[in-house]
Amino acid sequence: MKVPLVYNTTTVAVAIGVIILSTAVLSYLSYHYTVGRENLVETSLVQSNINLAKQTVDRIEQKIVDNDRILYEMADVNEPSKWPAVVDAIKKADSNVDQVWFLRPDTGALLYPPYSASIANLWNAFRASFKVKELNLERIGIDQTHHLHRERPEHYFFASYVMKEDHRGAKVLVCFQMNNEKIIALLDKYLRDFQPSYYVSIVDYENNGVYLQPVSRSGKYYYEMRFPSTFYKWILQVLPRNYTEIEQNVRNQRRTDLFFIILSMILIFSSLGIIYVAGRRERQLAQLQEDFISHVSHELKTPLSLIRMFSEVLVAGKVKNDETKQEYFGIIHRESDRMSRLIENLLDFASLERDARGKHFEKTDIAQLVSQALEAYRHEIQQQGFQLTVVVAPDLPVTLADPNAVAMAFFNLLDNSVKYSGEKKEIVVRVLQSNGYIDLSVTDKGLGISLAEQQKIFDKFYRGSNAAVKMIRGSGIGLSITKRVAELHGGDVLVKSEPGAGSTFTLRIPIRKPPDLASGS
Ligand code: ADP
Repeated sequence: MKVPLVYNTTTVAVAIGVIILSTAVLSYLSYHYTVGRENLVETSLVQSNINLAKQTVDRIEQKIVDNDRILYEMADVNEPSKWPAVVDAIKKADSNVDQVWFLRPDTGALLYPPYSASIANLWNAFRASFKVKELNLERIGIDQTHHLHRERPEHYFFASYVMKEDHRGAKVLVCFQMNNEKIIALLDKYLRDFQPSYYVSIVDYENNGVYLQPVSRSGKYYYEMRFPSTFYKWILQVLPRNYTEIEQNVRNQRRTDLFFIILSMILIFSSLGIIYVAGRRERQLAQLQEDFISHVSHELKTPLSLIRMFSEVLVAGKVKNDETKQEYFGIIHRESDRMSRLIENLLDFASLERDARGKHFEKTDIAQLVSQALEAYRHEIQQQGFQLTVVVAPDLPVTLADPNAVAMAFFNLLDNSVKYSGEKKEIVVRVLQSNGYIDLSVTDKGLGISLAEQQKIFDKFYRGSNAAVKMIRGSGIGLSITKRVAELHGGDVLVKSEPGAGSTFTLRIPIRKPPDLASGS
């Protein structure tokens, strides 16, 4: 038989290789995509934190710068006599301003308000907050925005300052000292809205909380940013409140994706395994069928040629001797019997395959059925030199069974024990009752069967692999028929065998009371 292309080992190996490779590549790509997507989620979360921090810092700075512009414009230095009024107006315009100082830019000397005991503390604190040279006065332009931010041991100092020129060209440095609490209140106005969804804080460089408690820097989504030009000693910190939840979600998503990747790999590889095993089984079956056809044709050809040969001799009238004639008739009879048994077996096999058998259950006395079958066969067995012992337990119950099927199964076991007995021609047939079954066993002391083969002999078309078996006629369907018959009755076939020591096959038929007996009991 020509092996179809799909079963070609190389083709199958290449196809499996291609599937494994593409599965591996696909799985790798999916994993890569999953990790990429997670990174994207993380990046966009981090980016949104950065944006939030930047926007907030920008808005606060812009607010200060806008305020400064108003203050700078209001600070008219032309007429010192109007400075008290200017200061009052400034303090009204921006409530964050604590003090307004007019200074000489070269010496830092106080021009306004005039020094007095009442302002001594304020002025000293102001002067202690910075050194004049830190202001880089020689380099700053007229009317430009500048800020001074300092951390003092017990408070923070923040001031805006501007260099002004009067109409005579004299420079005056105007400093607007801001109130710390009011600055914090201003920050609160901008940061309060984020607090439901973010941990927000403003800290100094030593991580002391200026506005709320410092935020933990360990979170993956933590972001911090300095105020570039106003509160430049402070840092804004942000961290999403649900960051652990976000991280957990990302982790869960990764686990789920990995689970599905691995699951689909397992499914693909197991399907491949199943396809491979099924293909191999089919190839084996094709091989077995091929062997079966050659066995059956051989089985039919041998008796047919014997029948033809001896009948030709008889028809030609070449045999005069009555004894020889009788012997030839015997051969023709035996061989035609052998042929018809084989054909019967083949037909039974076909009908069992179609499930057509086993529907004719009737009240059956198995002991009687065995005796009848043996009656027909005993003479032939004994002629071949076999010693046949039959043990039938007394009072075996009748049971519901298909008598023809059981007879056929029994006959196959008996025929096998004759075929595979070798030199030790001893056969024992037992019909016993055990645990609700009728056990019909046939024991021989012949070739025996290896443990490995005991699994396979019930497969259809399977024939023993050793050389001695190959010499013996057979088609490989007898035991599969017997097994099928057992199954149709809800029973089983057991084998106990040892190579070289013989075999016992037991057909187990469950005892089922026929309806009329059941109702009668
Ligand atoms: P066949 O006898 O036509 O080969 P069977 O299905 O009846 O087919 O048996 C399958 C195989 O089981 C046989 O080829 C043989 O190897 C083994 N076998 C069956 N019965 C016996 C036995 N009584 N002793 C040894 N081997 C046996």
